[in-house]
Amino acid sequence: MEEKYIPTEELKRFELLTDVPMSRYTTIHCGGPADMALFPRSEDELSLMLQILGAEKIPVSLIGGGSNLLVGDGGIRGAAVFLSGLGDIRIRDNTVYASAGVALPKLARMAAEASLSGLQFASGIPGTVGGAVVMNAGAYGSEMKDILLKCRVMDEFGDVTTMGTQELDMSYRHSVFSGSDGRIVISALLGLTGGERDSIMEEMKELAARRRTSQPLDMPSAGSTFRRPEDAPAAARLIDDAGLKGLRVGDAMVSTVHAGFIVNAGHASAGEVRELIELVTERVYSLFGVTLQPEIKYMGCF
Ligand SMILES: Cc1cc2nc3c(=O)[nH]c(=O)nc-3n(C[C@H](O)[C@H](O)[C@H](O)COP(=O)(O)OP(=O)(O)OC[C@H]3O[C@@H](n4cnc5c(N)ncnc54)[C@H](O)[C@@H]3O)c2cc1C
Repeated sequence: MEEKYIPTEELKRFELLTDVPMSRYTTIHCGGPADMALFPRSEDELSLMLQILGAEKIPVSLIGGGSNLLVGDGGIRGAAVFLSGLGDIRIRDNTVYASAGVALPKLARMAAEASLSGLQFASGIPGTVGGAVVMNAGAYGSEMKDILLKCRVMDEFGDVTTMGTQELDMSYRHSVFSGSDGRIVISALLGLTGGERDSIMEEMKELAARRRTSQPLDMPSAGSTFRRPEDAPAAARLIDDAGLKGLRVGDAMVSTVHAGFIVNAGHASAGEVRELIELVTERVYSLFGVTLQPEIKYMGCF
């Protein structure tokens, strides 16, 4: 195993924990310890932290809501930087400004309260604004790309720039940031349209009901495990047709409700989840000749 990093004195002035089990911070509840976890409460604090981490050559892993992550059982070497403390929200006319750590369901509710339409699709996505921009999160025919006007980005030295959507290369579950290039989305400006509060709320309720009946929301998961294949049926359809619902490796299981989800049916390790992903990929390939690609992001040491 790679050597652990120890926090320097300079880092101890921030909110900092050591040996933090990532299973507590990911929606699939797997993952070994991060050497250190930092919880910036403002952009200035984040910038300062990055400068110190950079000077000490401590690797940085960014965590939003942990809802699309599979962290290895060996944990994370270096610093896991949790962005959920960046929580500003400002609504002006038809625009919504939100910091990276704002939870999408909360933002969707606030927009609805302000009679703004456009975020309904995101009301059941359990991630943060930053993670949603990075992943170009989407559902029910809409995605972040449709409403994003611009975002502010911090580089590894703590410097901030503004980027317009034309620079973000957003496509299906992809943006210029999805390769984990070290840049941090620190806020987003969204353009919504005026609507009627009650009908927006009603639409969100309907979408939530659809999710409840079609997704295994009562079990820990990281959402859809696989990307939608090109020129082939949906991943869930292929996995279902291959008869893989309920297939297990240890406590990792292909959901019996939605074949596109791998759930943690007990105390699954990340290794078990990854092994099951590989097994499903192999079986689908051997039956249909389609190579499934994971949508979830692997992080840390496996
Ligand atoms: C039950 C369930 C349902 C889901 N449904 C959907 C759905 O309908 N549609 C959909 O698209 N997704 C869905 N997801 C997946 C997930 O919620 C989204 O991908 C979400 O956008 C991830 O955001 P996050 O903040 O949790 O990111 P994380 O999982 O914390 O991180 C994801 C990646 O982004 C990076 N990252 C996070 N924040 C930042 C930032 N501010 N700057 C730079 N990099 C960052 C991380 O390092 C990591 O590489 C679902 C997940 C679950 C558990």
